[in-house]
Amino acid sequence: MPGFETIIDQKRPVKVLKTLLKKKEIPHALLFTGIEGTGRENAALTLAKACNCFGKNPEPSQNNNQFELRQNDQSFPTEPCNTCHSCRRIESDNHPDIIRIKPVGSYIRIDKIRTLCEKLIRKPYEAGMRVVIISDAQALNPSAANALLKLLEEPPDRTILILIAPQIADLLPTIVSRCQNIRFNPISRKNLARLLNKEYGLDQVEADLTAAMSGGSITRALEMNGSNWKQQRDWLLKGSGLDRPAELPEKSAGQLMLFAEKLAQNKNNIPGSLEIFKSWIRDLIIFKFNRDKIINRDLVDKIKGASRGMTIKILIKKIDVIQSAQKDVQYNMNTRMAMEVMMIRLARE
Ligand SMILES: [Zn+2]
Repeated sequence: MPGFETIIDQKRPVKVLKTLLKKKEIPHALLFTGIEGTGRENAALTLAKACNCFGKNPEPSQNNNQFELRQNDQSFPTEPCNTCHSCRRIESDNHPDIIRIKPVGSYIRIDKIRTLCEKLIRKPYEAGMRVVIISDAQALNPSAANALLKLLEEPPDRTILILIAPQIADLLPTIVSRCQNIRFNPISRKNLARLLNKEYGLDQVEADLTAAMSGGSITRALEMNGSNWKQQRDWLLKGSGLDRPAELPEKSAGQLMLFAEKLAQNKNNIPGSLEIFKSWIRDLIIFKFNRDKIINRDLVDKIKGASRGMTIKILIKKIDVIQSAQKDVQYNMNTRMAMEVMMIRLARE
């Protein structure tokens, strides 16, 4: 069962959470930021379990609730036992005091937050700590965000709110300032590849390739694994003209714009597509030094041909261009414009 030890590559966040548990000083509101697939949800659930775990304590009866039983404890366990009644019910999403809120469609609307506020007026049913986990908090619409802000201003007793979002900039500054932010980093390529190889049975090459292109997200890596991403990659390289970068300057502006438009059509795919471009250009550079270290090993012949006509300086410039497009997309710039600028710069600079 998930616990802190199953969260990969997040030493710092896990250490911070364990310290809070040990000191029994958990703030009313926490904000977990980072890309999806880095263990944010798992960490939130593990925290909820740990601060409600009976562990070796006797389980509560009708006469003594858990809160009373635990009042004298100086700390929470830093890892939930995963076997007691409370842990099992949280794991199966069946605990009355662990409340989960997720967007419906694109938004978390105000009625959800209103219902939450009504629930929180009452005391927790049985839990030592009631935990509210708001996934994709960036989807709070403005009125819902304002209602949540009121809640954060007057936090209910024995309740922890955990907001999960990609980055601080996605939320109202007034909300952020009331939360302790804990940042989750992308998972390293090496550790993600090892996980895909050991736990999901991908062979070494496939695992390396998938890890490199998933941008450090387990979720994205698993999605890629189930999809025909190799075809997608080949389509991207051909469509963009990066498969033959020496010929890119000959492409007309119209061709470049048309491809940019296609790229922008599916916003969710853009981060993955940009990672694919980057891994390809990286390979063109690396090939010049050590051909064993390339990522797209199945395309070695194409890499050989494409790398030959390009200088390292020009290739590095192209990586810069892609990275700047990644930032534009991350900060919600107009996606189509970001893709158009990127394509023109890739071909002309
Ligand atoms: Zn337990």
